[in-house]
This record gives sequence, structure tokens and C-alpha cells, in this order.
Amino acid sequence: MTPVYSLVIPIYNEQAVLPLLLRRLDALMDALDGPAEAILVDDGSRDASPIVLEAKARADARYRFIRLSRNFGHQIAITTGMDRARGQATIVMDADLQDPPEVVLEMVAKWKEGAQVVYAERLTRDGESAFKRFTADLFYRLIGRLSDIQIPRNVGDFRLVDRRALDAFLAMPERDRFVRGMFAWIGFSQAVVQFHRPPRAAGETKYSLAKMLRLAVNGLVSFSDAPLRLALWAGLAFSTLAMLYGLWVIGMWAMNADFARGWSSIIVLVAFLGGANMLVTGVLGVYVGRIYAEVKRRPLYVIEREVGAVEAQRPAQRDDRLQRRA
Ligand code: UDP
Ligand code: MG
Repeated sequence: MTPVYSLVIPIYNEQAVLPLLLRRLDALMDALDGPAEAILVDDGSRDASPIVLEAKARADARYRFIRLSRNFGHQIAITTGMDRARGQATIVMDADLQDPPEVVLEMVAKWKEGAQVVYAERLTRDGESAFKRFTADLFYRLIGRLSDIQIPRNVGDFRLVDRRALDAFLAMPERDRFVRGMFAWIGFSQAVVQFHRPPRAAGETKYSLAKMLRLAVNGLVSFSDAPLRLALWAGLAFSTLAMLYGLWVIGMWAMNADFARGWSSIIVLVAFLGGANMLVTGVLGVYVGRIYAEVKRRPLYVIEREVGAVEAQRPAQRDDRLQRRA
């Protein structure tokens, strides 16, 4: 029986929360008005998570288990799950119950009203540090300014997507997957449900500062070329200033003024321009690095093991899709 609903859950070292999660998922699937499947994507956990998840997938036919060969990161883990989803509506949610299963029912109601993408907006975020909230706010302001697409604020990856929207998403070939930006980009009729985000049910965050930073840079670079244009404007500004300075020097010379002082100011200028040069080269380097990653055309992820409903049609590889279109 093909499911109507696919639940995609990325999991990285979540053994503390799994018993609770699986119970809540059972309840959610019972509450849904059609057959559902839960796709548990283990993102290379090093704790007991894969053992618990695999046992669940073997015991309950509604569950499927996929283990990636290493830690590929949250965005790739949810892409893996979405690749395998067979439902008419696919819902992505975190394992730590910060995305409450009850909210899924509200999303489904909006979907039935005709929305093709339903995202969940966080009204409050309990149990998150002031630092995290501040940096998240800053990031969304920045990307709102710098990119052409509007990524809704206070929205993570907790969302329901219709089959059509999902297929559009899966056809996007890029390696750098900033999933929330990609869903903002594809359009379709979008709706929103609001919820209060509770703290993590158990365990601690799997998003280290480094991972958060990488996500932010990824998002900016994939959806904005403003940093590249920065070089143009900064260059223009510096040359204008240099020209004005040159005119001033000539003026002083013409008036025979004694102005041969200020070697230090020259050093400061040279050092500053050297720094600006390096900065801009660095920005270029970031984009060139992205191009390099794209041309290598490596697969997005590597699957180590898969349990449950494997006989289901295998999704086409992204590269096949590209070749077919070419
Ligand atoms: N996660 C993952 N791979 C990673 C990091 C996180 O699959 O490399 C999963 C994690 O298990 C959880 C979800 O992504 O289900 C969100 O992570 P977390 O709750 O730690 O992030 P936070 O809510 O603190 O931003
Ligand atoms: Mg969380």
C-alpha cells in the first residue's frame, strides 16, 4: 500500500530521545487520516541510535530505516529522506520533538485546503540560548537583504510539502543544499502554521557552532552574489578616494606647500588595501570552491544500509536526471 503521508526524520546521536520519539510517531501515524510511513535517516550516529532504529523498522512495517555511511549533515540527511519518500505529502521534522507532532495535523489541514508547501513558524523558542536567537535573527535579516528570494523568518526545516513541490525540489541538482532557501525559491502556494517551539525533549543540540556557521555561509553563498559585487563597489570607492587624494597632492605641490610628512599614513593605507585585497580574493575563493564542488559531481550521500520497503521504486539519481534533461 503506498502511503499518503511520509514523515522524514534526520537523526544524529539521538539515543536519549528515541524511545519518546518513536512513541510519539506511532501516535501521530495513528492520528493521521491515511496510511503513513516514517523514514528514519541515521546521519552516521556513533551511539546506539542505529540499533534502536533498525529494530523498529524490522518490527513495524510503517517504518523505514536508512543509515548513511558517515555524518553528512542535517541538510543532506533530510534530502536523503525526501528522495525516498513515496507519500502524497511529505513532512520533515526534527528527532528531538522540538517540532511537535500535533502541529503536523494542522499542516495536513492546510494541505487539504490546497496549500502545496506548509511551513511552521516559531512564535517562541524556549530553551535556546540568547546567542543562538540573536545570531539566527541577524542571519535572516542579512539574507533577506542580500538575496532575491524571501526566506520566511523564524522558520526551520519543519514543513509539509506536496508531491509536486517535492519533485521540483528533488530535481534541483545543487550539492550545497540550503533546504529552507530552496523551498522558498520553488514557489507554489505556500501556507503557514504557527507554533511554540518547546525545548529539546532529551539530549543536547547536535548543531555545533561550526555547523551553524557552515549552514549560514552555505545559505548566503547559494542564494546571493552580493559578496561578489562587494568587490566591485569597494574597488570603485577606493579608487575614487585615491584619485581625490592625488588631486590634493598635486594641489599642494602647485601651491609649493611643505607636505612631505606622514609616512605612517602611507603604511596604513598600503596595509589596509592589502587586507581589502585579500578579503575580496577570499570571497572569490569561496565561490570558486562551490563551483569546484559542483563540477566534481559526487553523489550527495552514500547509503550504508537500508531496512524496510526497499522493494519500493528506487528514486532516480540526481545525475541521471541531469543527463536525461541534457
Ligand atoms: N542532525 C543531523 N545531522 C547533523 C546534525 C543534526 O541529522 O549533523 C539532526 C538532529 O538529530 C535533529 C535535527 O537534525 O533531528 C536538528 O538538530 P538539533 O535539534 O541538534 O538542532 P537545533 O534544534 O539545536 O538547532
Ligand atoms: Mg533541536
